[in-house]
Amino acid sequence: MKHIRNFSIIAHIDHGKSTLADRFIQYCGGLSDREMDAQVLDSMDIERERGITIKAQTAALRYKARDGQVYNLNLIDTPGHVDFSYEVSRSLSACEGALLVVDASQGVEAQTVANCYTALDLGVEVVPVLNKIDLPAAEPERVCEEIEDIIGIEATDAVRASAKSGIGIEDILETVVQKIPAPEGNPDGPLKALIVDSWFDNYVGVVMLVRVVDGVLRPKDKILFMSTQAQHLCEQVGVFTPKSESRTELRAGEVGFIIAGIKELKSAKVGDTLTLVNNPASEALPGFKEAKSQVFAGLYPVESHDYDALRDALEKLQLNDAALNFEPEVSQALGFGFRCGFLGLLHLEIVQERLEREYDMDLITTAPTVVYEVVMKDGEQIEVENPSKLPDLGKIQEIREPIITSTILVPQDYVGAVMTLCNQKRGVQRNMQYMGRQVMLTYDMPMNEVVMDFFDKLKSTSRGYASLDYEFKEFQPSDLVKLDIMVNGEKVDALSLIVHRSTSVYRGRELASKMRELIPRQMFDIAVQATIGSHIIARETIKALRKNVLAKCYGGDITRKKKLLEKQKAGKKRMKQVGNVEIPQAAFLAILQVS
Ligand code: GDP
Ligand code: MG
Repeated sequence: MKHIRNFSIIAHIDHGKSTLADRFIQYCGGLSDREMDAQVLDSMDIERERGITIKAQTAALRYKARDGQVYNLNLIDTPGHVDFSYEVSRSLSACEGALLVVDASQGVEAQTVANCYTALDLGVEVVPVLNKIDLPAAEPERVCEEIEDIIGIEATDAVRASAKSGIGIEDILETVVQKIPAPEGNPDGPLKALIVDSWFDNYVGVVMLVRVVDGVLRPKDKILFMSTQAQHLCEQVGVFTPKSESRTELRAGEVGFIIAGIKELKSAKVGDTLTLVNNPASEALPGFKEAKSQVFAGLYPVESHDYDALRDALEKLQLNDAALNFEPEVSQALGFGFRCGFLGLLHLEIVQERLEREYDMDLITTAPTVVYEVVMKDGEQIEVENPSKLPDLGKIQEIREPIITSTILVPQDYVGAVMTLCNQKRGVQRNMQYMGRQVMLTYDMPMNEVVMDFFDKLKSTSRGYASLDYEFKEFQPSDLVKLDIMVNGEKVDALSLIVHRSTSVYRGRELASKMRELIPRQMFDIAVQATIGSHIIARETIKALRKNVLAKCYGGDITRKKKLLEKQKAGKKRMKQVGNVEIPQAAFLAILQVS
């Protein structure tokens, strides 16, 4: 165990985590150059294109250190987006150390801080690394100071590196060996292995990534899941180099995979502890909080006969994404579809994209919403994750909305603009701290406002410099109303929204006018109205592309003219019914374009 180091890389998005991980693999000879195409750890196509890491992956590396000894370095990659901070803490639970990578041309950003604190809270040794020193804009000295000022860890000795040009890679590995403690644990004790991640593989079924804390695990061992008491036969154990390689055993201190003929991801819950049926541990390791859906949206097939295919696709995606939830939903306007729960907006976008790309689905997605707690006058409490399902306001005692605590790091020049934005979004300032050239702002904000467009606005008001991290705080009573959209006098349920009363009229007007731009003109006038309860707060008309039906008439045959006009009216009616379906996708997301 003296020669094992388990570590993760943590960073703000784009600071170079994945590039650095690839360098380590290359340096330690895990893959040939040919196999090193682009970024190996980010294996999914979408990850590669978007340049983000969705699922944590791992690589066991062999490194010959300057002391002449060979060390087994287990690298556990972590995702770096705010939606997935939950997975960051999961990966860190399997490690004794973390490399904190900071882009030397950008400096400390919100998730640098958040991830670092997660690591420190878990008692993990944090080793700072300054990356991208090849860039002319790199300011390693200033960024060192920032790490010390803002995060409060020593950074003078931080390795200066460039993952891109390969500078400092060996220095980092050497620091890992020296600064990060070897794992502790009892190889002779009863088996305790923490499930860090699990996923579904088409050939072998469920694969579990585990950190063995105590004991030894071998193929043919009978394993016991401590939370469910389910028993399975261990078929194969091994490590990723990052290619999978079978081993004869996994010992205390090691990280590796287990295959045990499990068919359902549900049975291999992340955070559960594995032990042996014959010599069970007396208590389980501390697990993780379950990931809870924060953002909901309706997904509907454009063609109603694709409903079954959409369900199949969602089921398949869920095999690999335990954080994705869905249940059937019926909309008057959109027909049969699914209400889906996501960790955040990015998660929603990724799922939507995978459905469209990998499963060839044409989808209508409704505007994302958060979940509300509603207390009824009769005392019943319900959760509302679809605005059109909000009960009659007359029957409601109180609506509570989710509040998040957001931490924003922004250069001083943009503080004023960012504060104005936070106020517009009903934020309540909790703290403001000057830290070198940057300011750290802490605001409590309704999550609903953040889901809408806060992140984009934050970036545009700060020329891209502000960064954001947030976590759920609590549900708070709030003065909320339901905003409905009527198209030609009919309420379109899929367009309903829950908004704060103070911004409801403004939003209603803006939304109606956006709809006018987005819904194509048809053969008749289309009235778009925004209503709150029985009040109409805005009205727009999409003018008809009028075909002059009377031009076909000759003479003054009144009845003929009447008949034609009648026919056109009937057309209007028919269109009104299918009119809902003809509303383009963009219109369902129009609220995202309204501030
Ligand atoms: P991650 O989001 O932290 O995983 O970041 P990536 O590893 O995906 O890197 C983000 C971007 O920064 C990519 O375009 C990389 O090519 C680039 N990058 C990473 N490391 C360096 C570096 O040392 N120097 C320069 N110039 N670019 C880098
Ligand atoms: Mg990455």
